[in-house]
Amino acid sequence: MKLSSRAYDLFNAFEQPGCPVCRLTMASVHQYLDSLIYEYVNKPATHMMVRAARGFCPRHGWHIQNEINASAVGIAVLYEGLVRNLLKDMGNPDPKGGKRHVAQIADALAPQAPCPACEHQRTVEEHLLRNLLEHIGQDEFAAGFERSAGLCLPHLRQMIDADGSARAKAHVLALQQAVWSRLQKDLELFYDKQDYHHLREDMGAEGDSPRRAIESFSGADGVR
Ligand SMILES: [Zn+2]
Ligand SMILES: [Zn+2]
Repeated sequence: MKLSSRAYDLFNAFEQPGCPVCRLTMASVHQYLDSLIYEYVNKPATHMMVRAARGFCPRHGWHIQNEINASAVGIAVLYEGLVRNLLKDMGNPDPKGGKRHVAQIADALAPQAPCPACEHQRTVEEHLLRNLLEHIGQDEFAAGFERSAGLCLPHLRQMIDADGSARAKAHVLALQQAVWSRLQKDLELFYDKQDYHHLREDMGAEGDSPRRAIESFSGADGVR
């Protein structure tokens, strides 16, 4: 099997629970935010991006606050510059100002660029999906995908819209159908075992199928 480094990451993620693209994307976004806060926080380009976006989107702002250890100094450096520039852009709000004045300030407050972490995420997702499509023709890789939890529905739909051959996309869709057939059987078995006739039966692999179903249709917790 001949794999690019991204395809190799995917192949390994096939063995892990949940959508492999969600898993690798979340790891990459975490890494990106971590290095942004520690290594790039003093780079002018970082400040420009964060200022243009008017800060991170809610998901990524809270990711930094809650999941990047000891990020407080980095946040202070980035957001002090953000607030200072925002104050300048707001001009001097006149307490007696009219509609036009309020509209001008609304324009100044509007983000001029997307959240940098959302941009990074989009790039990583596209790259992973492209690699999935480029390698699905290899038997061992395809078998790994078929044994995996498959793509979540949002990533499956993104895969259909991605660059790549229709044949590779059809191949992924056929494998995904096998994944969902297993999920459907597990869900059926799960609620069957809740039936009083089956109370004594122990749960097997179907035990976590309700959680897997949520992830399969909503993507991993925290991706969106
Ligand atoms: Zn996903
Ligand atoms: Zn974001």
